[in-house]
Amino acid sequence: VEELEKILEKLERGELSINRLEAELGNANLAALARRLFLERRLGVSLSALASTILDFEELYGRNPIGAVQVPVGVVGPLRVEGEYARGEFYVPLATTEGALVASVARGAKAVTASGGARVRILRDHMTRAPLLWTPSVEEAVRLVDWVRENFQLLQEEAAKTTRHGRLVDVFPYIMGNLVWLRLYYHTGDAMGMNMATIASDRVCKRILADYPGSVECVALSGNMCTDKKPAAINRILGRGKTVVAEALVPAEIAEKILKADPHLIHYVNVAKNLAGSAAAGSPSYNAHVANIVAAVFLATGQDMAQVVESSLAYTWTEPRPEGLYISVTLPSLEVGTVGGGTRLPTQREALSIMGVAGGGDPPGSNARKFAEILAAAVLAGELNLLAALASGHLARAHQLLGRGGVRGGQGRVQG
Ligand code: NAP
Repeated sequence: VEELEKILEKLERGELSINRLEAELGNANLAALARRLFLERRLGVSLSALASTILDFEELYGRNPIGAVQVPVGVVGPLRVEGEYARGEFYVPLATTEGALVASVARGAKAVTASGGARVRILRDHMTRAPLLWTPSVEEAVRLVDWVRENFQLLQEEAAKTTRHGRLVDVFPYIMGNLVWLRLYYHTGDAMGMNMATIASDRVCKRILADYPGSVECVALSGNMCTDKKPAAINRILGRGKTVVAEALVPAEIAEKILKADPHLIHYVNVAKNLAGSAAAGSPSYNAHVANIVAAVFLATGQDMAQVVESSLAYTWTEPRPEGLYISVTLPSLEVGTVGGGTRLPTQREALSIMGVAGGGDPPGSNARKFAEILAAAVLAGELNLLAALASGHLARAHQLLGRGGVRGGQGRVQG
């Protein structure tokens, strides 16, 4: 206690930085306590809720910890999924403070499952990093791209030196004037793969700089054509992470009984809202609330939250058919992993285990793909329910019941 008091006094006098506490105290948990006490005194606030956590900061890579935030986790299911990797009924964890969200996805899941489940396919699977290279002229830029293509195997071997699970599989070159972007495509196993692809791309760039016989410089290891954590047409068109489609055929009687909505009306709302409305707004994303489900599952399972930006790009497509409503969601750049990053944290790992996808798969990559299929099916359920709620005029009432009732009401009551 005395030592801690001395440290706090030093912090107060500005003789010690809050960044140096681990080195000073030799223990990350003690450092977190000191940092918190310092903030409490300096700011006159109580941080006792932030202090309440099961995390052992000695085991984490995080810098300057003071505690952890807690977010309620709800679960929806059973959700039937007929994918290539996920087959059967699943429960899906959603971390959210939005009262109506869990109830909304739960009702959608009920309708999807009663309709025989969501059929899901992964169309593309690659993580990208796009270094930006400088050459003096367009002639040199073209020569460089030709050289990269001719020597691609050499670059693949270079990338392979940095990872056991990552593999450089393709390159999409892009020239603007004298500048060259190399959008490098990697298979990354069960990892979302951003660190893996960045480390490998660094090595690839160094090899290009060393071996290319002409004039070239590396401007930036990431040249923004990757494109990470920013809205970008390139991800929507060429894909990033996993490109996933989930679809269902909802019989008219199930739409009427569970969703209380007419399939034709659901379809009309989709076309008018998600297609015409998004086009009128100039939105790059044609869906109702995909980000809601993606963000809630990302938060529960330790994904990189900033990647909700591109992972929630999605098209929701419907067709009225004689049997009922055909509905699909297409997610061109869903970036998920079951190893690495925040998936190692204990609560997030448990959330992944609910879906049977915690850790590495056998073969590697199968867990991340299974997870992507389940998440796409949950997105489908969310889209179906919201469109149906709008079509039947239920939306405002559901929010009043589930949202305004506070967190308890939001988690406890299920619509429809
Ligand atoms: P990572 O934790 O950096 O790498 C995954 C690790 O898991 C590798 O060491 C890999 O081994 C190992 N591994 C074990 N079993 C595996 C399996 N079955 N499949 C794949 N890998 C397996 O994770 P990452 O996904 O590459 O990067 C995620 C992190 O990057 C997140 O924390 C995210 O926030 C952050 N991020 C970084 C950048 C950046 O520019 N660096 C950008 C955005 C996000 P091997 O290496 O031997 O294959």
